[in-house]
Parts: sequence; structure tokens; C-alpha cells
Amino acid sequence: MLKKKKQQSLHKRQSELAAANKQLEKLSNGIFANGELATFDEKISETQQFPLTPKALEILQINVGYMCNQVCEHCHVDAGPDRKEIMTRETMQQCLDVIRNTSAHTLDLTGGAPEMNPNFRWFVEQASQLGVKDFIVRSNLTIIRANKKYYDLPQFFKKHNVHVISSMPHWTRGKTDKQRGIGVFDQSIKALQDLNSVGYGMPKSHLQLDLVYNPSGAFLPGDQASMEKEFKRALLEDFGIHFNNLFIITNLPISRFLDYLIASENYEDYMYQLVEAYNPAAVKNVMCRNTLSVSWDGFLYDCDFNQMLELKVASSVQHISQYNEAVLNDRTIITSQHCYGCTAGAGSSCQGSVV
Ligand code: SF4
Ligand code: SF4
Repeated sequence: MLKKKKQQSLHKRQSELAAANKQLEKLSNGIFANGELATFDEKISETQQFPLTPKALEILQINVGYMCNQVCEHCHVDAGPDRKEIMTRETMQQCLDVIRNTSAHTLDLTGGAPEMNPNFRWFVEQASQLGVKDFIVRSNLTIIRANKKYYDLPQFFKKHNVHVISSMPHWTRGKTDKQRGIGVFDQSIKALQDLNSVGYGMPKSHLQLDLVYNPSGAFLPGDQASMEKEFKRALLEDFGIHFNNLFIITNLPISRFLDYLIASENYEDYMYQLVEAYNPAAVKNVMCRNTLSVSWDGFLYDCDFNQMLELKVASSVQHISQYNEAVLNDRTIITSQHCYGCTAGAGSSCQGSVV
């Protein structure tokens, strides 16, 4: 039997698709350029929803770096151990100044593996004192078991009342390891048990532990409520694990998932699936309408996906150091064909379905 090749980031492989403009080219040409499928902007124009504009800001999502201990097949960040883009303490300080004054009630730290940023704990300690209502850290779970220096993360999260959201693509070893790497399932289970042991996700506990599912191939996810039931039953029966909510996320056709779609000759079929499942009701609640995304170097984006495509906000304010909420709220949101991933079926966001 052929051994599965070890996954590497597009950057490490020096793949053409590591460049955001090459991804955007792919998404604009072919079936979209020849009129076979409507572009996203044409589609939302049919229901007078073009251009997308922001509603009141609710979520500030900060990407503290692209370094990660994993190299998942579908990663939209193209994260991995080789990525050296890490937010500095100076940029974190600029973020803290904004968090203190923003109207956003939710702070969402993401990566890469955010815990690998050497200033991560300092940043969490500072930010947790600023009265944010919901303070999320997106942890990939395995980082908690990757090295002794991370073993106390569950207690650290508890101390700062952090809301933990973690990827768990399946309750079986095979599907999880296929997408996220050999050994990820066992380490994730151990990390979930560690989180449960300090109270995360336990019945009657206020410590919130949510999981994120995304499909392991070129297909759209199922219904969030029924998948949550299945996940809860299986993880409890097999491993005694509790958690609060399961969020279902559609894979967007960018970065490593786009590379996978092209390499497996599923790109056109997947885009057809997304366009056929387009739901105009989901457009109202796409996450760029109430979220701002900050990159490791302090630039501002409509969402984490636009960040990876290097599409900075269409505003005179483009950096956290110049932050002005009123000016930013006056912008229009930059959209392209990847946005179909947010509007298929029940819609998709970092908090799961949107309708
Ligand atoms: S754990 Fe998350 S950030 Fe890291 S490679 Fe996997 S999907 Fe990307
Ligand atoms: S990809 Fe980003 S900009 Fe496009 S609809 Fe989704 S959240 Fe909005």
C-alpha cells in the first residue's frame, strides 16, 4: 500500500497557489469567466444585495500568526510549522487599545495555533481584563498535548474565562487523521478530556467548549443540529467526552482546500455544488457583516478568508493603528467567488450555520 505523503504548506512546497493573486485568478476564470456559472456579485445582485455592507460591529477576530503544529489538508490559512508570520507585542498593544474602545462584544483569537505565539499568554491576560463579553480562543486541541509547556493550557483558559472553540472533523480516527494528520485524533481526544477535567463543556459548567466540523472532502456539510446529536452521542459513548455546541463549517475554495480541489479534479464540481446550494437568506448574516478581521501584521480585512486572499478592507482605514469604527462601518465588503462557501445551504461562518 502507498504511504500517504506528509502534508506541507503551499509556501513550503513553493506552490503557485501560495500566491493570493493566483487563487483569485483561478476563482475568476474558467466557469465564471465563460458565463457557465454566475459570479457571486451577479448572484447577490439578483436579490438586490450587492454590494454587501457592514451592520454594527459585533466580533473582532484577531489572527495572531500563521504558525501551527499541524498541516491540515483543508487549511484556509496555509498554516504550518514553517510559517513565521507572528503578531508582535507592539501590534498586540495596538489591538488592546482598540478592544478597550470598540463596540464589539466578542473577541476571537485565531491562527495558526494562536498558543504558539510567544506573547499569546500575555495578550490573553491583558485582553481578559477589558470586559469583553465573549472571549474566544480557537485551539486546535493537539497543541495542548504537543509539549509539556502547553499542558497547563486548560487551567490557563479557565483562569481567564476563555471560551474554547476547537476543530474536530469527526468522531472517528480515520476521518480525523485523514484531514488533520496521523495521530491527531488520539491527541485531540486526550486534549478534550483534559479540558473536561477542569470543567470545560461539562453539564452545568459555565466554561464553554464548542467543536467545529468541516467536511473531509469535496462535499457540503450536513445539518448542524443532527450532526451535533451524532457527535455528542459518539464522543460520550466512546470517550466520556462532553462539549457544548457543534458548529458546521463549509470548506471555502481557497488556499490548501483549493489546491486539494484542483489536484483531485473536483474544483468545477465543487463550485457547481456551492452555486446550486446558494441561499439568498444566508447573505443577510454572512460573518463579514458583523466582524472585522485583523492579520498578524495589523492590517484589517472583512473576514479571515479575505485576509488569506490579501483583500484588505476597502476603506481609508486599513490598519489597526488607524482604527476608526465609524469610517470602517462606512465601507463596502469585497466579495468574490469564494463567498459562495458562506451562502450555501444553511450558510457558514466561524460560528457555524447562519440561517
Ligand atoms: S490546525 Fe487549523 S490552522 Fe493549523 S493547519 Fe490545521 S486548519 Fe490550519
Ligand atoms: S468569504 Fe468573507 S467576504 Fe465573502 S461572504 Fe464570506 S465572510 Fe463575507
